[in-house]
Amino acid sequence: MTQERRTETPAIRLLPEVDAFLKRKHGLIVGDGRPSAASSATMAVMDPATGTAVSNVAAGTADDVDVAVRAARSALEGPWSSLTPSERQRLLHRLADLIERNGEELAQLETINNGKSIHMSRALEVGGAVEFLRYMAGWATRLEGSTLNLSTRAPGAARYHAYTVREPVGVVGAIIPWNFPLGMAIWKIGPALACGCTVVLKPADETPLTALRLGELCLEAGIPPGVVNVVTGTGPEAGAALAAHPGIDKIAFTGSTEVGKRVGLAAVSRMARFSLELGGKSPMIMFPDMDSELTGLAANLGVFFNQGQVCACGSRIYAHASIFDRVVADIAGMARSLKMGSGLDPDSQINPLVSAKQQNRVLGFVERALEDGAEALSGAAAGDGPGYFVKPTLLVNAGDTMEIVREEVFGPVVVAMPFKDMDDVIARANDTRYGLAASVWTRDIATAHAAVARLKAGTVWVNTHNVLDASMPFGGFKESGIGREHGAEVLNNYLETKSVCVALPA
Ligand code: NAD
Repeated sequence: MTQERRTETPAIRLLPEVDAFLKRKHGLIVGDGRPSAASSATMAVMDPATGTAVSNVAAGTADDVDVAVRAARSALEGPWSSLTPSERQRLLHRLADLIERNGEELAQLETINNGKSIHMSRALEVGGAVEFLRYMAGWATRLEGSTLNLSTRAPGAARYHAYTVREPVGVVGAIIPWNFPLGMAIWKIGPALACGCTVVLKPADETPLTALRLGELCLEAGIPPGVVNVVTGTGPEAGAALAAHPGIDKIAFTGSTEVGKRVGLAAVSRMARFSLELGGKSPMIMFPDMDSELTGLAANLGVFFNQGQVCACGSRIYAHASIFDRVVADIAGMARSLKMGSGLDPDSQINPLVSAKQQNRVLGFVERALEDGAEALSGAAAGDGPGYFVKPTLLVNAGDTMEIVREEVFGPVVVAMPFKDMDDVIARANDTRYGLAASVWTRDIATAHAAVARLKAGTVWVNTHNVLDASMPFGGFKESGIGREHGAEVLNNYLETKSVCVALPA
């Protein structure tokens, strides 16, 4: 398949502080942030656009996790607990200001480490993190319980006065994936700190850089040492140790369904609280009356956004049989026209995947789909030259039971299938173990609401896809997770409710 050759030279100049950060010997951010790590083992940090190592970070061990959890516990029981809600709010705003002030440095580090477009790093990772933190900062001063009207009779003429108090759940272990490294870190740290918790953050093995810089900014903002700790390391070592640590009161996990189940089991075995934001295989349903001008937007935003490395990626397109040929022709044309390149090249539209492992995994799905009888209308190959590129791929002629229709690919790969009518498409859209998101494309409000009501998904978009906001709860039905992030609902993840019942004298 043709695909415009990607550019070889990054077009933006790296800041000197980015260069310096990459060259630094990185420790962990534990307590006051003085460089530390139990062993001298390190992990290479790769630039996905070139496939070369650009930095090294500490490979944290179970001992490092233990030290970090103890630091988080003593911070929880120390000065952090005596801060007023408005003091916590001010610290979160100060952190947001520092992220904004150091935004270009963070964005460049993110693009170098994850491979994503510099525009995305600036707007979503940095800009989104700032917005999200400011939203969550507001909750710090708005946490409240309620007064309760009891029907239980007290002896004699006595009465009961009852109310609830919301208290921080305690020390939070946050484990995050590599697709939105800074954003995901903030999705955990923001509400946890607003609620008065302390955090040990384990970034993904592949993308530790912005988490380490964020840990430094937390200290610079005046957040007391030990409130936010960052332990870099592998999932099986540092991640598993965090999930199993008896000093963790709550695990906040985002990642694959397979690892999420293991983390949930580790948490529940000692009754630690847990919330899981997991994978998806989200349908995009295109009804016959959809605005044809929106097909390009649907593919760009819903499928190829972040190279398809999005938990809510619209990786199954169901287009009504009457518009199917036009829809796939439009998407294939658009996919072939996207310019591949380094995320540091502002003109590039498709950037590398995060790792060689992910590139091979995605290409494996495509290869098996083709062997099973699917046909590729675009892509279906790695990009030329170095780096972990995969050409944007549109597959058709796939049966409902094929792996490519059922399993999460997490890459720039979409499978399109025609449907007959509403009953047919809803049954097929819901026929999945996942339930993270879906989108409905129609000009008819009744069609939209009828489909929304029948879809089993945590978020349903109408005439758009992949739109998230700090105020809008996000999370999955079925095997896409347990609990919700964002909005007021996320606070339930970080608070315990205490009921108080006072017997008043007659
Ligand atoms: P992953 O499950 O492999 O890893 C996620 C995190 O878990 C990483 O930090 C990893 O080091 C850690 N980990 C791995 N093994 C572990 C273990 N045994 N114990 C504890 N921690 C362990 O996922 P990934 O490949 O980094 O990310 C992609 C997945 O994340 C996709 O399935 C995607 O859908 C999902 N995701 C979900 C959301 C959401 O909000 N629902 C958002 C982004 C990504």
